[in-house]
Amino acid sequence: MSTDSTAYRPATRLLHAGVERTPFGETSEAMFLTSGFVYDNAEQAEATFTGDVVHYQYSRFGNPTVAALESRLADLEGAEACIATSTGMGAVSSALLAHVKAGDRVVASRALFGSCHWIVANLLPRYGVETEFVDGRDLDAWATALSRPAAAVLLESPSNPMLEILDIRAISELAHAAGALVVVDNVFATPLYQKPLELGADVVVYSCTKHIDGQGRVLGGAVLGRRDWITDTLQPFTRNTGNALSPFNAWVMLKGLETLPLRVRAMTENAAAVADHLAAAEGVTRVFYPGRADHPQYDLARSQMSDASTLVAFEVAGGKEGAFAFMNALRLIAISNNLGDARSMVTHPATTTHMKIGPEERARLGISDGAIRFSVGLEDIADLKDDLDRGLAALRSR
Ligand SMILES: *Cc1c(COP(=O)(O)O)cnc(C)c1O
Repeated sequence: MSTDSTAYRPATRLLHAGVERTPFGETSEAMFLTSGFVYDNAEQAEATFTGDVVHYQYSRFGNPTVAALESRLADLEGAEACIATSTGMGAVSSALLAHVKAGDRVVASRALFGSCHWIVANLLPRYGVETEFVDGRDLDAWATALSRPAAAVLLESPSNPMLEILDIRAISELAHAAGALVVVDNVFATPLYQKPLELGADVVVYSCTKHIDGQGRVLGGAVLGRRDWITDTLQPFTRNTGNALSPFNAWVMLKGLETLPLRVRAMTENAAAVADHLAAAEGVTRVFYPGRADHPQYDLARSQMSDASTLVAFEVAGGKEGAFAFMNALRLIAISNNLGDARSMVTHPATTTHMKIGPEERARLGISDGAIRFSVGLEDIADLKDDLDRGLAALRSR
């Protein structure tokens, strides 16, 4: 079959896009664990370096297995081009650092993954880039911040950990009027549920460590966008700074993509059931799930996402002690700060992923000491509910 034909639907293309078989005719993608490549003669080497001949040079620049992943991810996203990176943070940091220079401004939503927050708050200012955080849900705050020119906007929706929803279409319009490149961290939505490029964003970044591997094995990331930006702005940066994905990790992620729709759909069904179960439970004070009508931005979520999330955030009574009592009573659901895994995991953001930002910033983000983030896995929903009930019983008997 034609490997990149848009005649096929997304689930089909996740199995077939980007395949370039070797003469052996292997069914599964070949894994090219090689750092370098050889040339037929000195002339071919020269022509490769001048760009007259297309030939792999060195795996920091390009590798066939990594290229297969990039091509399949671009196909899934509907993007012109993709560069895979060593981690999700490699994707976020390269996208921003490749684009900005001293004297530029960057505006970001406050509710960001911890390391993304650190890059905007601490790293960019060190290189002479002015940065500003806004409450991402507040369009007036965006309008004020973007009334002056900006080079880039970074946002995450749904956000980590409290699943705030940001209006990507409206923010992109404001950002473009200020001259900014709009970068969306789409990890929580997955490429299946939200298409930021269709909503007006310029660049989409992923931690492929999460749902794309989805089985807790390898780290990786990806940046997707217009071909000219990827080739002229991002590629020289990633190639020369060494932000390259291992071909082994790329191969694992190609396998992950084959089952991505099945896993994400089943995990979302479980997450919706978990959210309803928690919302009805004594001891749970609030549930944040974009698929529930009581989510503060339910209508916005429905207007820009095709489904909700595999993550649920909730708050228990009793603050940190309540949350710890709940988590320590769980037997099946692991205490782990990864997410998007086939196994269910809970984390307490205030003492782990969002500890370093401090109590004031946590209060601004609505991360209370009783807040728990639940990445819902593929276990049988009855077993998940039984385990949650164990946690709830421990919480109530404190
Ligand atoms: C995990 C994550 C990242 C960072 O990805 P790594 O692969 O861990 O470097 C960035 N953004 C979000 C929203 C994430 O969940």
